[in-house]
Amino acid sequence: MDFAVSEKMKTILGMIDEFVEKELIPLEPEFLTKPSTNLLPVFEEKRKMVKQMELWAPNHPKEYGGMELDLLEHALVSESLGRSPLGHYIFGCQAPDAGNIEILHQFGSDEQKAKYLGPLVAGKIRSCFSMTEVELPGSNPVMMDTTAVKDGDDYVINGQKWYTSSADGAEFAIVMVVTNPEAGPYLQASMIIVPTDTPGFNLVRNIPVMGHAGEDYFSHAEILYQNCRVPQSNLLGPEGHGFVIAQERLGPGRIHHCMRWIGICNRAFDLMVARARDRIIAPDRKLAAKQIIQSWIAECAADIQGARLMVLHAAWMIENVGKKEARKEISLIKFVVANVMQKVIDRSLQVHGGLGMTDDTILAFYYRHERAARIYDGADEVHKISVAKRILKEYEGKRVR
Ligand SMILES: Cc1cc2nc3c(=O)[nH]c(=O)nc-3n(C[C@H](O)[C@H](O)[C@H](O)COP(=O)(O)OP(=O)(O)OC[C@H]3O[C@@H](n4cnc5c(N)ncnc54)[C@H](O)[C@@H]3O)c2cc1C
Repeated sequence: MDFAVSEKMKTILGMIDEFVEKELIPLEPEFLTKPSTNLLPVFEEKRKMVKQMELWAPNHPKEYGGMELDLLEHALVSESLGRSPLGHYIFGCQAPDAGNIEILHQFGSDEQKAKYLGPLVAGKIRSCFSMTEVELPGSNPVMMDTTAVKDGDDYVINGQKWYTSSADGAEFAIVMVVTNPEAGPYLQASMIIVPTDTPGFNLVRNIPVMGHAGEDYFSHAEILYQNCRVPQSNLLGPEGHGFVIAQERLGPGRIHHCMRWIGICNRAFDLMVARARDRIIAPDRKLAAKQIIQSWIAECAADIQGARLMVLHAAWMIENVGKKEARKEISLIKFVVANVMQKVIDRSLQVHGGLGMTDDTILAFYYRHERAARIYDGADEVHKISVAKRILKEYEGKRVR
């Protein structure tokens, strides 16, 4: 594996770092204390600046106006953007749109691409992904109650979903529904595009997450689909291929998430070190003089570096060996990086004392919202079991002395 960063990427990363520092981090105090909708005009201005700098949609296809960086290149971009919760959104590579763009590009019909893909990559509209149900385990998504039944030229959708992130203000949802209940468990579900203004698409509420319901892009909705009727041409990919497509969405998506988390770790770590250096805890003593704090600094530095190298390795595996062969590495980074991030944020918050609990720094926001990293896209335990099963299989028939 070559860790050298190309001259092209050095320039891009330099520009992104500067933009995040000068244009985005100064917006955070208002973002943390007021509804994000207040900032929408400012967000639009910043997005225009990013487009003018030709840094828009770094991971998306050139034919739709993106930069089409490869997975490793975008991993580095994702790390830089992760330093602010606004980074990915302002640069047009935010989840869940990023994953939806990938699957629309790969599986969308010409009509679907013309209608949704272009405007989505351009940042003119937003989308959401609606799979998890209230009453059934998201960890075992083959258990699903939401159905789409054919009626004339349409599908009629009924069911209750939640944690449909960013549904508030989205133009359409990609909804996972049971279309083929008689098929085997992994061939029962399909993905269907549902415009959010379709009668029967009912956004019940933005769910309060750690006490904050949020709004617009920064929210997670509960959705009730009640006789929600869409044309059969809204089916994405072949019928019964929902899980096949979902798998496609997850591999590169995990690299993006994990590198965003490394960016969060870097930010929390910088804040921790700066606070330890500045905070006077006795007339002649700074916090950084205490060995316990030094130990946290060293441990966090090692944890971040280890986690970062694991993610870059997994990205390299996906690009050079293939997504299927990289499944163990992808599962490993998912729970390792999520836990490293949680530890680093927690340590940094602790070093900040009472200040860490306020919204005067970004730490409390990260502490609240990034706890979910250990749950979504596969809970820690699910990934650990999957990794362990693969390892146990690798040892089948192996003689170990
Ligand atoms: C902030 C946030 C954003 C999200 N965004 C989206 C989104 O945009 N779209 C969407 O469809 N969903 C989204 N989700 C939902 C997410 O995918 C699910 O929460 C996740 O799949 C877990 O499902 P569950 O909540 O039903 O938990 P369950 O499946 O009920 O699991 C609960 C817990 O049980 C344990 N567990 C589960 N299975 C096993 C097992 N096999 N072995 C051992 N232990 C196990 C784990 O500790 C797990 O955390 C989001 C969730 C959060 C928190």
